[in-house]
Parts: sequence; C-alpha cells; structure tokens
Amino acid sequence: MAKINHKINIFFEKTDFIGSFHSVENIPIFNNMFECCFVGRSNVGKSSLINSITKNKKNAKTSKTPGRTQKINIFKIQNNINLVDLPGYGFSKVSKILQNQMSELISTYIESRVNLKHVFVLIDIKVGIKNSDIDMFDTLNNFDRNFTIIFTKIDKTAKKTLDEQRTSVKSLMKNYPKKFSNIFFTSAKSNYGIIDIQKEIYRLSQI
Ligand code: GDP
Repeated sequence: MAKINHKINIFFEKTDFIGSFHSVENIPIFNNMFECCFVGRSNVGKSSLINSITKNKKNAKTSKTPGRTQKINIFKIQNNINLVDLPGYGFSKVSKILQNQMSELISTYIESRVNLKHVFVLIDIKVGIKNSDIDMFDTLNNFDRNFTIIFTKIDKTAKKTLDEQRTSVKSLMKNYPKKFSNIFFTSAKSNYGIIDIQKEIYRLSQI
C-alpha cells in the first residue's frame, strides 16, 4: 500500500500548465498523450479538486464567482497524461449567450477530441444531480465516452447523505451501463479521496 502511494506521489510530482484555450480547434494534438477531462456544474469545486490532484495551489484558478472559468485549461502530468479542465455548466446567472457558448465548447471537445480517453463528472454532494448533469450523462453516452462520477465537498455532509447519494446515483446509472464505471467521494478541503482519483488517473494512463 505504502509502495503504491509513494509511486503515485512521484507520478503527480511533475505537473505543468500547458495553456488556456478558447476553442477546441486551437488545442494542439499532443501525440502519445491521452487526456482525461473534468466537467461539472459551475462552482462544483472543479478547480479545487484539480489543484489537489496536481498538488499545486496555483494550477487551476479557483473562484468564488461561479461561471467565470470560460476556457479549456490543460495540465500535463509527466509526459504521459493531460488533465483537461472544461468550463463549468448550468450556471443560470450568466447570460443565455454565454451559457450556450460554454455548452458548445464543452460538447465540441467531448465529441471531437481524439486524445480523450476518460471523463470525470463532478457533482457537489450538497447539490446532488440536476437536469444539467443528466444532460451531460446523455451527451457522454451519445458520444460513446466512458465516465466516472466524483462527488465533491463531502466534508460538508454526514455519512447518511453520502449513502443516499450513492444509492440514487447507482440507480440512475442503470441508464448508462456501458459508459459509467465508478463513483468516488472527495473533499479538496480535507484531502479525502484525492489519492483514489490520482490512482484512477494513473491506472488509466497504464491502459
Ligand atoms: P469551480 O467553479 O467548479 O472551479 O469551483 P471552485 O474550486 O472554484 O470552488 C467553488 C467554491 O467551493 C469555492 O468557494 C471553494 O472554496 C469551495 N470548495 C471547493 N472544494 C471544496 C471542498 O472540498 N469543501 C468545501 N467545504 N468547499 C469547497
């Protein structure tokens, strides 16, 4: 156990910010680099989670103002994997035009990106699954993308809520038997579950 954790620690030691992209066409194709992306509703805790995974406070920009991350940010781990931070969706307080632009950017990336191997869908444990998340699951299913669900901010809830959410997600995921693979529980605040996500990314990088 200690040995694998040590290996993971070393693996995530070397992370570099590659860049921010307004459109999918502008993202270079990195040969031999597979990508996994992170999506979720605005304010779900995506930047905080990516910062915890990459062990760098400055990597993904966290914000107290939902709906502000409007670009695709890419981080490289070793010379092996790109972590892709997609814009948040489902934030009603930004204009309809901006909402449409964001969903266009997200769906174009998901539909067309050749290097994309796996998608992590983040759900705030306190908010639960909303219609916009179901739209995302449908999009992933339609474009034949494998995905995993990560509950965030679990420091905010009691164990009972975790169990309820797990049960309800498992039931919903019966609609996506081929594409859905697993559920994780995390807290960027307490660091709970971060090692599990790192292990999963590492495992994907070895396939
Ligand atoms: P993003 O918009 O999805 O990138 O979300 P951020 O990472 O910017 O986080 C949104 C808000 O949730 C910020 O106020 C964070 O401090 C807070 N937050 C993020 N992760 C956690 C967590 O694990 N626990 C708690 N309690 N708050 C969190």
